[in-house]
Amino acid sequence: MAEQAGGKAQIDFLCVEDGCGGVVKFDLMSLAQDDFQVLCPKCHKPYQFDAELRGKLLKLKNLITAVREAEPILGDCNVAVAVAGGEVKIPYALLLTRLNTMITLCLGDKSVDFHLWIEPSSADTFR
Ligand SMILES: [Zn+2]
Repeated sequence: MAEQAGGKAQIDFLCVEDGCGGVVKFDLMSLAQDDFQVLCPKCHKPYQFDAELRGKLLKLKNLITAVREAEPILGDCNVAVAVAGGEVKIPYALLLTRLNTMITLCLGDKSVDFHLWIEPSSADTFR
């Protein structure tokens, strides 16, 4: 596996084990490995994701990769939000760095919120 150049996309979620409360973290890019497994740091419950869940998370990875490729123009992109009396422009880069992305997926019979943390591959991107 070739290492992704710069930047990190980290996922974390709360362990589903009752009363554990451990925060399980992993690098989204490592999900592509066939033998991918992550352990809860607190109760050491192993997590292996089924094909469907891996597929969804990999789609998220592709989205991030696409966003990363667009980094050079992100500084010029804005999201317009309609508010009372006008429109507010929010820089796209701000959306990525200041707002947390979250994807809610089913893990077994439980619904789990996966939080996504993105670091730009270049420190110059989000000035
Ligand atoms: Zn746990």
